[in-house]
This record gives sequence, structure tokens and C-alpha cells, in this order.
Amino acid sequence: MTDVAKLAPFFLGAYGENHQHFEQAWLEFFRDHVYWRRNFHPQDVPPVSAVEQYQPQYLASIARTKEALHQLSAELKQSVPISNPRYVGHMCSELLMPSVLAQMITTLYNPNNVALEVAPVTVKQELQVGIQLATMFGFATDPSQAVCGWGHLTSGGTIANYESLWLFRAVKYYPLAVYLAAQQEDKLDFCWQGQAVTQYSPWQLFNLSIDQVIAFNDQLIATLKDYQQTEQKYLLAIVAAHRIESLGPVDFYQALPGLKQPVVLVPITAHYSWQKAMKILGMGSKQLRYVQVDEHMRLDPADLRAQLAALAASQTPILATVGVLGTTEYGTVDPIDQLVAARQEQSELNYYIHVDAAWGGYVSALFRNADGSLRSQTEVASEFDQFPSDNVYKGFAALGDVDSITVDPHKLGYIPYGCGAIITRNRRVVEFISQEAPYVFDDTGVQPPLDERLMNLGQFIMEGSKPGAMAAAAYVSHQVLPLHSEEFGRLPAKTVQLAERFHQLVREFAKRVQNKVTIVLPMDTDTNLTCVAFNPVGNRDMAELNRYTRQLFEHVKVKPERLATSREFIASYTSIQRKNLTDKVANKLCTQLGIDPTTYTESLFVFRHTLMNPWLGEESGKCDYLAKYLEFLAELIEQS
Ligand SMILES: *Cc1c(COP(=O)(O)O)cnc(C)c1O
Repeated sequence: MTDVAKLAPFFLGAYGENHQHFEQAWLEFFRDHVYWRRNFHPQDVPPVSAVEQYQPQYLASIARTKEALHQLSAELKQSVPISNPRYVGHMCSELLMPSVLAQMITTLYNPNNVALEVAPVTVKQELQVGIQLATMFGFATDPSQAVCGWGHLTSGGTIANYESLWLFRAVKYYPLAVYLAAQQEDKLDFCWQGQAVTQYSPWQLFNLSIDQVIAFNDQLIATLKDYQQTEQKYLLAIVAAHRIESLGPVDFYQALPGLKQPVVLVPITAHYSWQKAMKILGMGSKQLRYVQVDEHMRLDPADLRAQLAALAASQTPILATVGVLGTTEYGTVDPIDQLVAARQEQSELNYYIHVDAAWGGYVSALFRNADGSLRSQTEVASEFDQFPSDNVYKGFAALGDVDSITVDPHKLGYIPYGCGAIITRNRRVVEFISQEAPYVFDDTGVQPPLDERLMNLGQFIMEGSKPGAMAAAAYVSHQVLPLHSEEFGRLPAKTVQLAERFHQLVREFAKRVQNKVTIVLPMDTDTNLTCVAFNPVGNRDMAELNRYTRQLFEHVKVKPERLATSREFIASYTSIQRKNLTDKVANKLCTQLGIDPTTYTESLFVFRHTLMNPWLGEESGKCDYLAKYLEFLAELIEQS
């Protein structure tokens, strides 16, 4: 059976092919829900009587809803047809039917995952989804071990990225709060690795790993065990009062003269949510430092190492380095293994490593065996032409060594919007975030197990009320298609194969139209995003290239004033900014395109294709959308 044949039962279908299964399931579980309502105190008289329901006023009100829904449905016809394989634009496509049904059914019960009390079923599912994703990334997930991963859902990748820095800051600054508190209160000046806390420099205390800070806190708590509960409470309140979250940055830094503001390093290809994160957390977008990319649009490890060395030399604290696994614009994969190696080399520095895998995270499934172990590179490669390059394989293999990961189930997880996730390697980071009093002070004097405390999600996350329906959507989806190469992995595998095929077709196409247009594929297929650049033959001016390509793009663009469904194909675009490229990379691109590099001052406009629909290919005589799309482009070029 081909992969698309295997995947077909899990989607509604571009033409609603599975509509009967969908309808049947929806009807069955909708009725099931109604029976559930009726079976809670069935002997009670329902608040709304049957007679009432036949009154004209009542019927008129029912009609109001119907009319509004009719209008909504009419307006929605102007939506972008993202479920059709003719759509190769943004990061959206068909949805997995199990997830949509699970979301719809669960919404009827309307659980709020902020706390177990209002979502006894779906909070557990959410934490289970966290474990499933953690396992797919290679984090340890055995709660009986000292280090155990965990994760929870967010409304999207943006919030997950914010949360990573929010968590990192809480952990990283904790020892400094103890240091300040210990200057005020001797009892807090405990011995940490053979030396009193106040004998360390702020720089030393800043440069502790996550696991070290957790051990540091354990040591403090162990020291406090000698005191009465009220005394313990009092002492920990002093620590809490000295935390940056409590003092605010102005007073905090004033108390620690010489300590600079921390920086966060991201590649220049990073999503704009990183800028927003720095602003929202009050850390200043100026402290977001950009690392150069190489000619493959991947973070350049040499530049990263150079920047780290300079920051170490000037004793500038580093909160985190971020690698992107599947960049939003190009789908490229940063050398995550190099991020990990660079941290090991800089022994005097310690900072946290986050991977923004909002896009590429779910591609991890094709690297995993059913038992969770990593597949070998040869095994993975046997299904593809080029994929995975050494860089891509090593990047995915290194995920288990980073501190936290953002992943968007609502992108390559094929789950409806409103479903992102943050996964951390060590779940104990939440102890530094908790809005509850520190755990030593449980009323009974016993510490409730972390598993139990984590059920009160709202205490540990950025958001408040949140849909249990999204947890159910992800949970059911992962249950139907587990996150390893034989099940869910078929989906990213298929789309990466399609991206490789598209590259091949574009190369052949480039030869066909070489008398009219020079066509360049600026990036490798690290995942399933493909950019294509066009330059009319003879043109050496970048402005003219951009004008020409924009004009071509008009034909595959969604315009608000025009029904998207009247389009032949829909693509998206991106601009490769000159300021983001090194001279070497910019010159190489210009040479390939036949452009005078001195005219590349601003940006290069390219078509961007997100190939996430599994039905784009030429499966057994069906419509070959990729070939058809290129035919369409050929006509446009002919007419241009
Ligand atoms: C999409 C994306 C984000 C933002 O995620 P949202 O779900 O849109 O909030 C962040 N980083 C990367 C790499 C992305 O592709």
C-alpha cells in the first residue's frame, strides 16, 4: 500500500471523500453527548419544556441562529481552499479527521484545562501529549528518574517561545535572588559545593545549568529543614522578595552592580515572535543578538562560536541560544548538534538551549522507531533521494540534548489552530514558575508529588483558561497515528519526498525555460518548504528581477477582493533580505541568478511553497499537482 493510500482514511479529503465517515462519527458522538446530559439526574424535569419549544417566539429565535449560521457559511465560502492540493502557500493544509472530530466532540463538554477541577479528563490528556512529544524528541520521560521531560499545550508557537524565555529567566536568576537574600539573612548563606553562596560572584551564580540550579535549590531546601515551619516560610519569603520577577529589573540590577543584562542569541532567520518575546518580558529587543546564517540559510556555527567567545570575554550573561528546526521562511534546519557542542566547549559559560521547532518538530516522527529509539541515518535515507543531509540528521538526533523545544501541533501535526506546545527536558523547571507557595509548606507537612501538582496547569503556564478540546484533538490524533516512523511519520515522509520531487521537477523545468528565465532554488530541502527565484534572461538588475517576479506572483496570490477559489494555484512568497546575508552568500546567489551584486541592496523576492498536502504527487494515475503547477508557471512565463 502506498503512503497516500495509508493516509487517506485519516483526512476529510480535498473533495470531502470521507464525508460519510465524518458525518457518522459526528452524529454518533453528538447523540452520545446528549444522552450523557440526560443521564445526569434523569428524573429531574428539564428546565425547558417541549411545549415551550413549539411557541412561535421560540421558533423565531431558533430561526435567528439558523439565519446567522447561513450567513456565516456563505461568507466562509470566500475562505482560502487550504485543503486542496492546489494550495501550496502558507503553513496550513488538510486536517487530520480524528483531531477535528475530537475537538468538536470535546467542545460540547467544554473542559477548561487551566485546572483539573474543571477538566478532569483533558488535563491528563494534555500532559500525556506532552510526554508523547517529549519522547518523539528523545527526552527521558520516566517520572521515577531524576530528570524527566514534560510539556503542555499553548495557543501556538509564539506563546511557547515566550514561555521558554520566561522559564529560563525564572531558573537562571534564582541563585542570584538567593545570593541577595543571603546578604540580608545569614541563615540563607548555605554551603553550595564547598563554598558559602555569598562567596560566589554573581557571574558564577548566573552561569549554572538548569540541573545545577535545581540541585542548588534542593540544597537550600535541605538546609532549611532544620528550622521551624514558620521560620522556613519567612526565609523563603525573603528569597522570593529578591527575585527579578518580584523586584523588577531596575531594582534587581541595582542590587547587583556589574551584572549586565542578559542576551539571547537567535539566527537571523528566527521567527519574529523572538523579538516580541524580548519586548514582552522587558528584556529589550536590543538584547536579542542575531547569528549569521550560511549559504544554506542555516545558523552558522562559526559565527555563533565567535559571538559566544566575545560575550564570555566581556562577561555578558547569556540567557539562551536558540536554534530553529524548520525556519518559517525557508524550512531550513539549524545545526542543533553544533549549538549543543558550542555550549560544551565554553566551560565558563552556561546558558540554556531552546529549539524553535514550531514548523519542523513533527518531522521528528520519521526519525523514531516504534519503541522510541532513533533510526539510523541510512535507514531514514533509504526512503529519500538526498534527505536527510548529515546536518539535518544530526540536528534531529541532538534534540534530546537541548533544554526545551517549541512545536506546533497546528502546523505539521495537522491539528486545528489553537494548538502549540512547549516541551522541556527537565520538568522541575516549573518549580521556579509556580504561583503557589514553595512546596515545603504543604498543610500536612508532606510534599504532594510533582505529578499531582502539575495537574493544576494554570499555576505553571503563561496562559489561563484554555481549551481542553485542543488537548483531546492532539491526544486522539496521536493515539490514531502514534509519533513514530511507521505511523504518523508516513505523513512528513511523504511531504519531504514531495519536496524532493518538486526540486527535481523545478530543475528540469529550469532547463525547459532557460531561454526566457533563469530559475534558481536557493535552499536545499531540509524539510518540505521550497523557495524558487526567477530572473528574466539578460536582466542583471535586482529591482527588475523583483518587479518581474512580483508580476508572476500576482497570478498565484490570494487577494481580498477576489475569491481565492477562482485561482488555478495558490502559493506564497518571501523576501530574502540582503542585510541578513554575508557577502559570500549574497554574491553566490547573484551569480546563480545572473544578477549584478551591486544591485542587491534591499531584498530578493522569491516564491515560497509549503508542501504539506500528501496528495500533491503523481500517485497511480491521479492528478499530478506539482507537474501541473509547473505547467501553469510555464504558461505564465511564456506570456510574460
Ligand atoms: C509558525 C512559527 C512560529 C509561531 O508560531 P504560531 O503558532 O504562529 O504562534 C514560531 N517559530 C517558527 C519557526 C514558526 O514556524
